[in-house]
Amino acid sequence: MKPDSNGLVNFIDEQKVWEIVHSAAGAESSRILEILDKALELKGLSLEETAMLLQVEDPELNEAIFETARKVKQGIYGNRMVLFAPLYITNECGNRCAYCGFKATNKELLRRTLTADEIRQEVSVLENQGHKRLLLVYGEHPKFGADWIADTVRTVYDTVSEKSGEIRRVNINCAPLDTEGFRKLHEVGIGTYQCFQETYHRKTYAELHPGGHKKDYLWRLHAMHRAMEAGIDDVGMGTLLGLYDYRFDTIALLSHAAELEDRFGVGPHTLSFPRLEPALNAEIAFNPPYPIPDEEFKRLVAVLRLSVPYTGLILSTRESKRMRRELLDLGVSQLSAGSRTYPGAYSDPDYDRPDVQQFCIGDNRSLEEVISEIVAHGYVPSWCTACYRAGRTGEHFMELAKKGFIQKFCHPNALLTFKEYLLDYAHSDTQSKGNALIKTELENFVAKRRAGVAERLERIENGERDLYL
Ligand code: SAM
Ligand code: SF4
Repeated sequence: MKPDSNGLVNFIDEQKVWEIVHSAAGAESSRILEILDKALELKGLSLEETAMLLQVEDPELNEAIFETARKVKQGIYGNRMVLFAPLYITNECGNRCAYCGFKATNKELLRRTLTADEIRQEVSVLENQGHKRLLLVYGEHPKFGADWIADTVRTVYDTVSEKSGEIRRVNINCAPLDTEGFRKLHEVGIGTYQCFQETYHRKTYAELHPGGHKKDYLWRLHAMHRAMEAGIDDVGMGTLLGLYDYRFDTIALLSHAAELEDRFGVGPHTLSFPRLEPALNAEIAFNPPYPIPDEEFKRLVAVLRLSVPYTGLILSTRESKRMRRELLDLGVSQLSAGSRTYPGAYSDPDYDRPDVQQFCIGDNRSLEEVISEIVAHGYVPSWCTACYRAGRTGEHFMELAKKGFIQKFCHPNALLTFKEYLLDYAHSDTQSKGNALIKTELENFVAKRRAGVAERLERIENGERDLYL
């Protein structure tokens, strides 16, 4: 493969990806069952095995995939669910992504970039709802460089409201920077750097990204390499579903993950699987060329859970309440809640604003409504940020995760952060349901751990905050 003018090569071999997809179609039932047995060993699956599962047609085998995903999810993550909200900082953008309401050619969109004061205002609203983890989202505009992005991150971390109100982990979804730029984001303490390749199919990518910096496929493809070289070892990747054949894009995404693992010893910290949603003046977003039906979408999430068991799977509010509920058990480990998709949204009483937002969302419920539902399903909401703050990131985190660390540490920490939420932000009904869940969870711990967690819960009741193991 020949490098481009920046010396970058395309490490995604399209022909090979298609060969894997095609030769995996129609695998025998016995082979599928063998793969599902292997998945239960929690060591992940090869690209070929993943492609076979993605193309199962027999409903009974599909049900077996769902059942195995539930077991793997429960075995590694238990009933913990990490919650966060996106915070849009700017919708100004010089790119022309065909599917996005923020594209430069959308002249009807009202453009807005938050000032430092406006960021503080938005962060206070989110803190007062109980959020502790945010994903900052940015359009890509030449006037906003790495220094400016780093300043916005600092502003978020520095905004402290009453009660236990502070943001403890800021993740970022912005256009790819150069290594020096990523170093600045690392220095300012971002958690995960997230960037979706959208589609790995170069011809489709070129058609959908006709202008602006994002036109450069290879610059985007190498974003995670530069981020990791700059010291950011938690990266989040994904494809935008609906743009191209999801079987191709999923196998290519997992090849990208494997390339990072080979090169840096660790793959992505999280994967996302956004589906196209309607967006102002973006025809393709209303009529995706490759729509993925609900059942296949659910199977995709379940298969990802089996293929990369220790990688976090993030589900956004693009999906409906019903779909979100179904996906919880199948493998999702992080959920956004109470989300809005435009700058200044959380200080705005209207939530549906096609004139400023990036795309329409499918689940408009508040954070507390989402919490109430997941608690009713036996999930413990978590705002834990202990690993990132204790330096347990990247390869170090993956090693610990594989030794059962998630159940030993993440679960107790989830209970501690949930207790804070109940005391500081919840209404009485959520409080009583939440406290009952904490009590049951506590009873399930072995005696030694129970004592340590109970002691910390009591300290939180007495006013201490931010306790973790
Ligand atoms: N501007 C940066 C970029 O493109 O990488 C980062 C932020 S962009 C707002 C975040 C993601 O939103 C994109 O990577 C894309 O996958 C997703 N997105 C864009 N338009 C969408 C739509 N109509 N429906 C669902 N997701 C969309
Ligand atoms: Fe801009 Fe990102 Fe939207 Fe593309 S997806 S138009 S880069 S905000």
